[in-house]
Amino acid sequence: MAEQQQNASNSGAYLIRGAAILGGAAEDLLIRDGLIAGRGQDLDAEGAGVRDATVIDARGLIALPGMVDIHTHLREPGREDAETVETGTRAAALGGYTAVHAMANSTPVADTAGVVEQVLTLGRTAGWVDVRPVGAVTVGLAGEQLAELGAMADSRAHVRVFSDDGICVSDPVLMRRALEYVKAFDGVVAQHAQEPRLTAGAQMNEGEVSAVLGLAGWPAVAEESIIARDVLLAQHVGSRLHVCHVSTAGSVEIIRWAKSRGVDVTAEVTPHHLWLTDDLARSYDPVYKVNPPLRTDADVQALRAGLADGTIDVVGTDHAPHPSEHKECEWAQAAMGMTGLETALSVVQHTMIETGLMGWADFARVTSTAPAAIGRVPDQGRPLEVGEPANVTLVDPAARWTVDPSKMATMGRNSPFAGRELPGQVVATFFKGHATVLNGELNTPYRYPADAVDAGPAGRP
Ligand SMILES: [Zn+2]
Repeated sequence: MAEQQQNASNSGAYLIRGAAILGGAAEDLLIRDGLIAGRGQDLDAEGAGVRDATVIDARGLIALPGMVDIHTHLREPGREDAETVETGTRAAALGGYTAVHAMANSTPVADTAGVVEQVLTLGRTAGWVDVRPVGAVTVGLAGEQLAELGAMADSRAHVRVFSDDGICVSDPVLMRRALEYVKAFDGVVAQHAQEPRLTAGAQMNEGEVSAVLGLAGWPAVAEESIIARDVLLAQHVGSRLHVCHVSTAGSVEIIRWAKSRGVDVTAEVTPHHLWLTDDLARSYDPVYKVNPPLRTDADVQALRAGLADGTIDVVGTDHAPHPSEHKECEWAQAAMGMTGLETALSVVQHTMIETGLMGWADFARVTSTAPAAIGRVPDQGRPLEVGEPANVTLVDPAARWTVDPSKMATMGRNSPFAGRELPGQVVATFFKGHATVLNGELNTPYRYPADAVDAGPAGRP
């Protein structure tokens, strides 16, 4: 259950007037002591014994469960020139998130109980969202020897998601062992599906555009062959597999087939793969260089259809901030990756909701309920009902804004959406009942009580 302790710096109570719950009927929500204390028409806060509630006029706004990112690179420890837990989680709160999974490819790599506990502590000190450390599958991401998965699972960080993201666990024997190992504690292996031998030196999607530009191509089959292998391995050992950042139409087909056969597989798509194509590489602007690469319009359409029909379970940002000198250089030398935390909601609204492919209840499923379930995150992805933890995001769907990376909270300036006008803006984010974002701006972080008890992982949904 929710931690109900509060201390003086955590704000007391909020009465949200007239928000469309999941885009449906307008109701009031009363937030108090970290919980949703009331929901209904014309709630009477004083009648409920709450005298000091801050009233928020939320007419025209949509109330959603706080978003949960299954795939974030916070860069700390070790790459504080790119991002810190503080800056990355400020960006997350502004983007409507109340929890993020911090990928393991930090320096040192998060491959021991000590490092994942360090990341957990950094997240709690920052207080903007729940930071759930991801543990590495192999020692040093080297792909040679399994990391101490059990020790990370048993640590204070309660790690349930394991990934060498950035690098594929390409050795099938190691992948099999990892899948077998995580069963003991209900964990999941999140695979970065990229056959390394088929992508050596690759710079962009292999196709018409790469042929024209003369850049080494990255074939779809390099992703699809690993996903095909891994769903069969997961079925063989009866374990849970998550596929990171699916980018091709063929990958969607394989996952659809695997699910129809009962394989326990989940998959994610990034906001940028729901919109952008490899045509953008013609600009030679490295802001469009990313791993997996931007693909074709046919892939984009298949990814949207897969997300809409549930083949793809979640939207994960793959937020990957880089210092400017690693992006503002020649394409061949540039680092791969894009920021995403502060634009994800808007890009999904643009690509999935305004196209009529999904509604806001589906949005809540793919950005909150499903990622919280995959990561076994306690107190997140819960329905907006009385008694539930108050992790809530208020969105103005009618707002329009132009992306300006220099105004973002993330240290990364590498947004592929810079200069684009996007719909939808986060007005408020409540984390454990505390407003981390108010009126579209950062408020104050949640302060964990000194005697906070670690919530264990949520059970199987
Ligand atoms: Zn990756």
